[in-house]
Formats: sequence, structure tokens, C-alpha cells
Amino acid sequence: MSKHKFSIVLALCFLVLLFVIRADWGWYILLFLGFIGITSWGSFDIRLNYFLKAYSNNPNENDKRIALTFDDGPHEMTDKVLDLLLQYNAKGTFFCIGTQIEKHPDILQRIVSEGHTVGNHTYSHSKSFGFFSTNEVEQEITQTNTLLENKIQKKSLLFRPPFGVTNPNVAKAIAKTGHSVIGWNIRSLDTVIEDESQILERIKKRIQSGGIILLHDTSLKTVNVLEQLLLFLQSENYQMITVDELLNISAYEN
Ligand SMILES: [Zn+2]
Repeated sequence: MSKHKFSIVLALCFLVLLFVIRADWGWYILLFLGFIGITSWGSFDIRLNYFLKAYSNNPNENDKRIALTFDDGPHEMTDKVLDLLLQYNAKGTFFCIGTQIEKHPDILQRIVSEGHTVGNHTYSHSKSFGFFSTNEVEQEITQTNTLLENKIQKKSLLFRPPFGVTNPNVAKAIAKTGHSVIGWNIRSLDTVIEDESQILERIKKRIQSGGIILLHDTSLKTVNVLEQLLLFLQSENYQMITVDELLNISAYEN
């Protein structure tokens, strides 16, 4: 049973209890607001595993191994990211958007040929993703999987929802497509924070073995942060590997 279903059962039990003890109407409102609050929190924090199981890190990792993940490409900036990864002998995981794959198929090829992993990050990366029906979510995923299959001849098994949003519809769609959902436990906020050193410090503070770092290969700012981050990880003797290797799961269908 998912945490969401458990919450529904719990809320219904409280509802019956309030009815039995003839509670004041204010308690019903409190119960309602509490349920809405917990559900919203569960939607926006993928680490809670509220609606579905998502991998946010590998808590059993004993070696100094960490996964760098890059969302929203392939993009003009991806080449600079790939140059840095090559320079520091690091491997990364790229969660690609379908419309971006159509714009930069050559960059996608480079990502794969240099030994990095590619995952599915929907076709349109719509801001309304959280309101999509199960069918719409499924279509977003299969459309990008078909694109990936055509371009790199691999059937992707890794999925990261846009904005890390999960809900019952995303959970149902994932159950159909069979993807592993990949979250993160180290959020760089590289699309929110302007100051590069602030982003770097934020990541450095949270570095730990088995961690999954969320970055975006869409700005020069992130490229600059990445260079400093790779220097730091190298000096700390970290090995930068793909998420599938870190989590010991398959990135592609055989
Ligand atoms: Zn994204």
C-alpha cells in the first residue's frame, strides 16, 4: 500500500471517529486541511515516496561513489558539460526532454557514445504535468521512449518526472510503462539561485556516498558550478558514476 492510500484510510477512520463523537465542525475542517496539506507535500517532495517508489539515493553505498544527474537537455550547453565530464573522468545521467531530443539529436548521440546514461524526462516538460491524466502522462513517457529508441536504439527504463512531481496519475502511468522513477537527495537549485558560489556551497554541504545530485545542463552558470564541483569531488576521492550503476538497476531494456 502506498503512503497515499494509507493516508486516505487513516483520514476516513478519523472522519468516522469525528462523526461518532459528534465533534464540532471545526475538527472536520482541520482534518480536511491536514489531508490536503500532506497530499500536496507528497506531490512535491519526491523523496517522501508518497505516491510511488522513487530512488533518491543509495543509502547502502559504502564507497565514495556519487551520481551526477542533468535534466532538461539535450541543450546547447550539454557539450560543455560533456567536455568537463570527460576531463574529470566522470560519468553522468541525462534526463532528456523529447522536444529537446528533436532539436539536438547529435548531442544525444554524443552523450551515449561517451558512456553516460540517458533517461526519460517526458516529451513536453509541461508546467501542467501535475494535472495530466494517466493517459496523458503515459503518452508523454512513451513518446520520448519511442524517440530514444529511434535515435539511440535503446529502450529507456529510467524516468524522472518534471519538477519531481508525483501523484496517483503518475503512479498509474509508471505502473503501465514499467519505468524506475529516479529522484535526488542533493538539490542544487541551479535554476533558482543566481550566485554560482552559493550553488556550489549548497551542494558541497550535502555531499555523501550514494547521493544523487540534481543539476540542469541548460546554463553556463551550471557549467561553471560543475567545473568547481568536479574539482572538489576529485580532491575528496569521489567516483562519479551513472545512477543505474549507483543503484544497481537497469537503464535500458535488454
Ligand atoms: Zn526538468
